[in-house]
Amino acid sequence: MLFFSLGLAYRSRLFRNEHNRLQVRHIRQLEENERLREIERREEVEAFKNRFYANITHEFRTPLTVMLGMSESLRENPDAQAREAGRLIERNGHNLLRLVNQLLDLSKIESGALQLHPVHADVMKFVQITAESFGSLAAMKNQRLSVQTDTGGFFMDFDPDRLQQVLSNLVGNALKFTPEGGEISVSCSLGTRSSVVSMLQIEVRDTGIGISVEALPHILDRFYRDENNLSTQTEGTGIGLALVKELLVLMQGEIEVESQVGEGSVFRVWLPVRDEERGMRDEAIGMRDEERGMRNGSDLVIDTQSSPLNPHPSFLIPHPSLLLVEDNPDLVQYLRSLLSHDYQLITASNGREGLEQAFEHLPDIVLSDVMMPGMDGLEFCRTLKNDQRSSHIPVVMLTARATVGDKIGGLQHGADAWLTKPFDRAELFATLAAMLESRRRLRTYFENEKAGAPAAELASLVQKENEFLQRVRTLIDAHLDDDAYDIHQLCLDLVMSRMQLHRKLAALGAPSAALFIRNYRLARAQVLLKTTELTVSEVAFKTGFSDPAYFSRCFREAFGKSPSEWRNV
Ligand code: ADP
Repeated sequence: MLFFSLGLAYRSRLFRNEHNRLQVRHIRQLEENERLREIERREEVEAFKNRFYANITHEFRTPLTVMLGMSESLRENPDAQAREAGRLIERNGHNLLRLVNQLLDLSKIESGALQLHPVHADVMKFVQITAESFGSLAAMKNQRLSVQTDTGGFFMDFDPDRLQQVLSNLVGNALKFTPEGGEISVSCSLGTRSSVVSMLQIEVRDTGIGISVEALPHILDRFYRDENNLSTQTEGTGIGLALVKELLVLMQGEIEVESQVGEGSVFRVWLPVRDEERGMRDEAIGMRDEERGMRNGSDLVIDTQSSPLNPHPSFLIPHPSLLLVEDNPDLVQYLRSLLSHDYQLITASNGREGLEQAFEHLPDIVLSDVMMPGMDGLEFCRTLKNDQRSSHIPVVMLTARATVGDKIGGLQHGADAWLTKPFDRAELFATLAAMLESRRRLRTYFENEKAGAPAAELASLVQKENEFLQRVRTLIDAHLDDDAYDIHQLCLDLVMSRMQLHRKLAALGAPSAALFIRNYRLARAQVLLKTTELTVSEVAFKTGFSDPAYFSRCFREAFGKSPSEWRNV
């Protein structure tokens, strides 16, 4: 009995222990689930925040671009007050645009979406050119700007867009916080840092207002400004240096600030020296001939491995065809290495050859340089856009010139988009994809034309292409009762080859030229059936069908009703 009750007590203890153990495990499990849910929630919020930032900043950019465009025309106004207003809008618009771009970059860095696109090139030359571009601004403020770099230049891997952002912020600040008559000096040399033997050192030194001791430790923080030194007049947000700091983390570089109020400041930046992208060409960062002459020509080999950025899934077969018109063989090779995964490439080395290829193939998209011997890119583009065979093809211009005036010139010649060297690979892909998407929407619009007016951004394109379609319809109309009027005859009248007509109509949403003609005849038949007393056979003959039975079959196929059923609804 005793044994029995001891045994029972033992078993019930065992049971309790097991129960407790399970309970603890259960609670742990619940806690773990809660923790995971919390992480998930936080990630969702973070993703939402980044999406929001990206979307909202993009939304800012479009109206800003419009405003800046309008301010230009105001600045040309004969009225002095209007000109002043234009100047103010422009200055503030540019400031806002820069801020928005910086915010966007910061959010991209935070979400890990900002990638570096290094090229192998003369970094010293690049620093020099970028710093010297502030020369006229310095002169306007009566400041002296000097730039020193080691003679002979130095080649290494760096992302030109991002390095330019860092430099522009530092030199821009130096100019902003240095009074008239002050000095700003920029230098670039090889140095040593934290026992790393070879680092590139860039120094931006000014004789400006300096930064207070209290502010110095926080000066690289986001939204921080040295209120001790700022008059309320100085514009700024405290975003620039925060972005510089983040960019340097991304580039595995470092930054250091020294400053003394009333004496001036020194911003020192170190970048690791890397050599993995050797083989990328100078043109990728838009260096001109005289600059290119500085490099030792033996390493002009394109490294196709180093361009894995490839946002277009390769399962989207067939690839769109892209005509590349470019006279520089190195640049052709470079672009080929970028594009050949996603596009069927056709190349031409000048405008004239480009036109021949364009008319022979009617590609889905054209990428063309502006400066070329013989027929230049603008002339080439204008000819393409004025020819009905090719007017629908989007043209992206590639150029080293970047002024707004140049872009407007290009747009007046009919270019659809404009990429300025140095161009970002992601930007190139995004631009091409946007162009193809707009043509896809054009096709869809014509396929469902009865849906109504086209979206605003398609309106002028639709109008232009409608002229072509109208011309085709008029020709078919003129031979409506002629059953011998076929694709061959139509092509002769349009002065187009069969292939050209086919590709053109395909771009405008028609399944084939033959079907286009037949559907048009059938649509005319629909009208005749409703508005005249002609018999079905007479309607068939009048719309170019020699066999009424065949006509009725086609009619039913197209509209789901026989001709007489259609007449009676
Ligand atoms: P912003 O210039 O838009 O305020 P930044 O992040 O570029 O933003 O700079 C933050 C602050 O750092 C500035 O407001 C200014 O107080 C201080 N600062 C930056 N560069 C200098 C400089 N060269 N001389 C003096 N103060 C500077």
